[in-house]
Amino acid sequence: MNVAIIGGGAAGLMTAATILEKNSEINIFLIEKNNGLGKKVMISGGGRCNVTTGIRDVRTVLTNYPRGSKFLSSAMHQFSPRDIYEWFESHGVPLKTERDARVFPQSDNGKDIVAVFEQLFRHPNIHVLLNTSVTQIKKDKKGFQIFFKENETPLQVEKVVLTTGGQAYRHTGSTGDGYTFAASLGHSITKLTPSLNAFFTKETWPAQISGLSFSKATITATCSKPISFTGPFLFTHKGLSGPAIFALSSLITFEWDDSKQPLNISIDLFPDISEDALRHKIETVIASNPKRNWLNTMATIIPKSLALIVCEKLSLSPEKHTGDVPKKDLIRSLSWIKSIPLHVKGRDAGDEFVTAGGVELTEVNPSTMESNICPGLFFAGEILNIDGFTGGFNLQASWATGHLAGENIG
Ligand SMILES: Cc1cc2nc3c(=O)[nH]c(=O)nc-3n(C[C@H](O)[C@H](O)[C@H](O)COP(=O)(O)OP(=O)(O)OC[C@H]3O[C@@H](n4cnc5c(N)ncnc54)[C@H](O)[C@@H]3O)c2cc1C
Repeated sequence: MNVAIIGGGAAGLMTAATILEKNSEINIFLIEKNNGLGKKVMISGGGRCNVTTGIRDVRTVLTNYPRGSKFLSSAMHQFSPRDIYEWFESHGVPLKTERDARVFPQSDNGKDIVAVFEQLFRHPNIHVLLNTSVTQIKKDKKGFQIFFKENETPLQVEKVVLTTGGQAYRHTGSTGDGYTFAASLGHSITKLTPSLNAFFTKETWPAQISGLSFSKATITATCSKPISFTGPFLFTHKGLSGPAIFALSSLITFEWDDSKQPLNISIDLFPDISEDALRHKIETVIASNPKRNWLNTMATIIPKSLALIVCEKLSLSPEKHTGDVPKKDLIRSLSWIKSIPLHVKGRDAGDEFVTAGGVELTEVNPSTMESNICPGLFFAGEILNIDGFTGGFNLQASWATGHLAGENIG
């Protein structure tokens, strides 16, 4: 049997490896338009490759997918983060789990992950076709015909796996071609939008404290209803970034149209302390030293650079003795840091990590990854309408769906 896997990213690599390990008699054609495999795998996690998550409970893992968690359940139970961890270690790549539960190769080098596959693919029945762009796929009586940009004779195969990814970071080769192929074979593609991106703010003051990070804040976006996420974030020279911002961008991605109007957001730097309790805390500081200036008093609860911004925004004198600051100004300052107002004017489009949306999940069998519409056609990875938060969840989904597709073909 001949099988074509279109796209040599995480999903395609795992599909090919699984077929090979399950049934090495099958002729596999792994077709990749780039001059090498796993380009995105290598740049993911800042080049370190955040392979998966260290969270072991699969149900908890599934809560990290704003779209596709139910569909993913079967694939994820069959090839869980624990299984991925063991798979890579048993293939010679020692891994480590960091404090925030992200899993990386001990070498901190994504190339080691791709090298596992390159090694496995030195098998006579796997044909890795690099620098080869698929342009069209046609269904016929014998299976499928795969057409190439290079105008070569079409390749005849019995089964096809579409692992062409989404359309994020297009320079890595993921240009959304798979959506066209899937549609031509009868599939619906849901609305596509960037997800996991930084926010650019209308306000320019974040640039003054660019790099300042907080380990926990609640960030709320006002869409048709308020949507919040609590986690780490940082100010950047253009606005906001970090895990909580990425997660929020993912949650609002279909709720907000950035071409229309800015998105109102507010940041609570003390999500676990009420405003009253915070006031009580600072009043104790004031009582102990009423001569301390207002800037230094504020700096007992927030970084001084941000305290300066509070003074600037609320037109308060940073030099004033705290004892002389009117209570209403104290309350205004605390309200501000409990609800920092900002307006997002755009997302970091083009630099998003994943595409939200994709092949309609009701048209794919979640237990096999085979199309319900076109027998012999399989899907895996980001091409599907599945996307997760940062932290290894997207690669995990690609490995798991690729493994399931491979198991069923093998
Ligand atoms: C900068 C960045 C950092 C990231 N970091 C992480 C992270 O740390 N952890 C995590 O879990 N996720 C991360 N992600 C997301 C994750 O990398 C992707 O979700 C995942 O790699 C998707 O895998 P895939 O195999 O489905 O698609 P892709 O990796 O996009 O692979 C698709 C492949 O198909 C090829 N292709 C497309 N069309 C054709 C065609 N017509 N003919 C031939 N070949 C074709 C492409 O060249 C590409 O190589 C990151 C993403 C980015 C952009």
